[in-house]
Amino acid sequence: MRRRIGVHTSIAGGVSLALERAKELGCSTVQIFSHNPRQWQAGPLPEEQVSRFRELRGLYDIDPVFIHTSYLINLAARSDDILEKSLRLLVREMDLADALGADYVVLHTGSASQDSPADARARAVRALRRVAEEGEWKAGLLLENTAGERGDISSTVGELAEILDTAAVPLLAGVCIDTCHAFSAGYDLSGSAGLSDLAAEIERELGPEKVKLIHLNDSKRGLNARVDRHEHIGEGNIGSAGLRRCISHPVFRAIPLVLETPKKNEDDDRRNLETVRRLLLP
Ligand SMILES: [Zn+2]
Ligand SMILES: [Zn+2]
Repeated sequence: MRRRIGVHTSIAGGVSLALERAKELGCSTVQIFSHNPRQWQAGPLPEEQVSRFRELRGLYDIDPVFIHTSYLINLAARSDDILEKSLRLLVREMDLADALGADYVVLHTGSASQDSPADARARAVRALRRVAEEGEWKAGLLLENTAGERGDISSTVGELAEILDTAAVPLLAGVCIDTCHAFSAGYDLSGSAGLSDLAAEIERELGPEKVKLIHLNDSKRGLNARVDRHEHIGEGNIGSAGLRRCISHPVFRAIPLVLETPKKNEDDDRRNLETVRRLLLP
């Protein structure tokens, strides 16, 4: 089976245009925002855009479709106001995903620098259970490993597994592993030992079937920098050899790849995708 490769494309001008952009770049999978990710408001999506999106998706064989949630959502927030807004927006994101026929919704679970990580994670678990009570969706929710910035509650495989296992709701379909975030949080993916550690943790604590997506990004910053700065494929501190090893490792070999590399224009996407296709050659 052909490896599914894509990028995060823009919905500017209408959500269906994200698929036109993906097709233009030769993508076989895609990630989008369903609305402006820096706003609490989302939608409604115009009916003709929704039906066009569903039509193009089949026509262009773009599968799976991932929706990245708003950066404002923080399920570990101590403020009741932020927490309530986060819950409402996540429910909305799930509704929009189902309207578009998207497969998965990707979430940075949250952060709370003023609190113990265990309490913050417990708050996020309660929030996820409340979201699960709000409805049933076809789309599955994926928790993404974060870069380990101050207060991040899920930058390790063990932390992701703890949240999934404790929340124990069908809403949670698995995880997205971001290579830049993993490197930034201390997994040395530039060498084979760091990759083996990450893969072993996934086998032991999560189960490889829980990994539904790889965000393939190089890292501008060094190992364990705990700063989230993506770099072009092969031009950062993980490097081509490290990224090649990641995407061909048995645990990750069949997982769709979505790039979130820096982009001034679509030529940047074209170039990064070419690099990835080259890395995948035997
Ligand atoms: Zn990511
Ligand atoms: Zn990032």
